Amino acid sequence: MSQLIARQLAKSYPTPAEPLSVLKGVNLELSRGESLAIVGPSGSGKSTLLAILGTLDSPTSGSLLIDGVDPFALAMPELAKFRAAKIGFVFQEHFLLPQCTLLENVLVPFLADGAAGSAEQDRARKLLDRVGLGNRLTHRPSELSGGERQRAAFARALVRQPLVVLADEPTGNLDAATAAEIGLMLLELQREQNTILIAVTHSAELAGRMQQQRRLEGGQLAPHQP
Ligand code: ADP
Ligand code: MG
Repeated sequence: MSQLIARQLAKSYPTPAEPLSVLKGVNLELSRGESLAIVGPSGSGKSTLLAILGTLDSPTSGSLLIDGVDPFALAMPELAKFRAAKIGFVFQEHFLLPQCTLLENVLVPFLADGAAGSAEQDRARKLLDRVGLGNRLTHRPSELSGGERQRAAFARALVRQPLVVLADEPTGNLDAATAAEIGLMLLELQREQNTILIAVTHSAELAGRMQQQRRLEGGQLAPHQP
């Protein structure tokens, strides 16, 4: 049984005229260890889709099951806990907290359940070490390069061993060489952690390295050859 199942997801936004229909029946089924690249032109609804899969936004209609749970049936506090436990996010912007150290930043996802104990700190240190930042634990994000910040964001996304990692143009802000290196690292981490990875990307190279590729077009996911 797949751990992420989306059926006929639709999303429209109200406008003063008729509603803007962005998603028109998106179907997805992914299991642990699978990776999917989503490509498509700007404005096609890629970020909208990721926000719904990440339970940050709700669909107008359709259903989503993550690990057998319908997240949209949960009350707000439970949904926040569910999201923190099951889903890791990586965005184009790193969104690290500037006033916090790297170690503190990577511990942020634990705050949904209270404080982080020594086991959690251990895991955060190991992950920062894994992404090559083991000697930068007490540094602030402003002291890092763009690629290093994104690596710290990967560690933050993975620290709770989420079932699903959602990445919205994770290499979009980086120069070509750094983007290639960071994209490879994201895929390595996905394999090591055995997560589902769904990444929106404009990089044909990154998309081509993922197991499946689809194009968001006319509000639906179509097959895509990278
Ligand atoms: P992409 O990520 O593929 O560039 P988005 O998902 O960001 O596309 O946006 C898809 C469409 O939905 C765009 O036309 C955008 O203007 C519109 N849209 C996104 N968010 C909202 C919102 N909160 N309210 C109204 N329209 C929105
Ligand atoms: Mg977008």
